[in-house]
Amino acid sequence: MTDLTLNAVSAPAAGISVPGAAVYPGLDDWRDLPIAQQPTWSEHPSFGPTVKELSSVPPLVFAGEVDVLRSRLAQAAQGKAFLLQGGDCAETFEAATADKISSRVKTILQMAVVLTYGAQLPVIKMGRMAGQFAKPRSSNDETRDGVTLPAYRGDIVNGFDFTAESRQHNPERMLKAYHTSASTLNLIRAFTQGGFADLRSVHEWNRGFTSNPAHSRYERLAKEIDSAIKFMASCGADFEALKTVEFFASHEALLLDYERALTRIDSRTGLPYDTSAHFLWIGERTRDLDQAHVEFLSRVRNPIGVKLGPTTSADDALALIEKLDPNREPGRLTFITRMGANNIREKLPNLVEKVTASGAQVLWVTDPMHGNTVTSPNGYKTRRFDDVIDEVRGFFEVHQAQGTFPGGVHVEMTGDDVAECLGGADPIDQEAFLTGYESVCDPRLNHKQSLELAFLISEELRKSV
Ligand code: PEP
Ligand code: MN
Repeated sequence: MTDLTLNAVSAPAAGISVPGAAVYPGLDDWRDLPIAQQPTWSEHPSFGPTVKELSSVPPLVFAGEVDVLRSRLAQAAQGKAFLLQGGDCAETFEAATADKISSRVKTILQMAVVLTYGAQLPVIKMGRMAGQFAKPRSSNDETRDGVTLPAYRGDIVNGFDFTAESRQHNPERMLKAYHTSASTLNLIRAFTQGGFADLRSVHEWNRGFTSNPAHSRYERLAKEIDSAIKFMASCGADFEALKTVEFFASHEALLLDYERALTRIDSRTGLPYDTSAHFLWIGERTRDLDQAHVEFLSRVRNPIGVKLGPTTSADDALALIEKLDPNREPGRLTFITRMGANNIREKLPNLVEKVTASGAQVLWVTDPMHGNTVTSPNGYKTRRFDDVIDEVRGFFEVHQAQGTFPGGVHVEMTGDDVAECLGGADPIDQEAFLTGYESVCDPRLNHKQSLELAFLISEELRKSV
């Protein structure tokens, strides 16, 4: 599937393991396999010392938390919870500020309240945050005005500025990614454990959204939620206890030098966990069965996601289950489908049918972003809000027809007022891109579009509960 000629390859020679790295059978088997989408930095003088340092730094997440998440995802796979996973396409070091992190967490919490009401189920809240720094690219290079430089591969590899110096692959960036992830996660933990997540304040924030005349159609749902909260209060619900929420971190496990170095052996169980995040996913471009990413992630205990695009065959899906979840462990495997609005109704049914018939119980999640990327007439990479909604609707329709559970949504979003995706009830047009386009990679839903999506999904979910 992946054309390796398009991808820089830097796996060290077979058998090389890093001094100080956690030892467990199979953890280095990926080094013998082809690997796509890696930086060319293994000869860099800082590579060895950096990986060695990363092998001994404290874990970003703890194995016990990872196990809790696995049990939550198992609930979702059984139709008893719903996953909301959202955040930047590519986090940057520069944007890891308190304001931006808090507005993103706030938006995810706002979406979660609306979805909880719609689904009448617990919503698992997960950020594409605190580690989403590595990006797969369709080309190794980028050319501007006749100048060709290495493509931007995310802040963990090189800089976004279009200069030869910035675009150089620098392994020391992995340390900066680790520390930025740590400070981001620290703030997320403070927000979600320290009272910021109080259901009543989150609902108040949503009132601001529905007071915009463009969103008046959501007022009814917001009022229903209001009544539900008042009802809970009258019944003596302990809102103090509801002030804290669980929030999990996730990113694409693309850069295996980094993921391997942050893998630790859990002292309780003696098993390996990738402690860079609670949940890791394998991207559409690196999900080849016989290559390094699938092999490495098959060895760690974290719950794993795999993105499935429109070319995925049922056999691919079944083989991924066999390799990544041989014991059919509840919550272990999530399939994140990103077919495109035009494809989902045609391509998804066969996958769902064959996977269900095999007896496997995976969690099905929709990513309505990556199959719907287009270029705007004025040259920006964008997505139409209507296509995003249409893919979500298609996802629900297919699962309803198959009798399976549409278990979650994975979106690229921000809490800020950016202009990157077209449309929405308070519409963004392409002129707005000229001043409001901030993403260094794919276009994200802005704050209002994210909430609108949550209200629309909530309406869909209301139909099925
Ligand atoms: C992404 O999630 O940013 C991404 C690159 O997705 P995909 O692997 O689905 O293309
Ligand atoms: Mn993306």
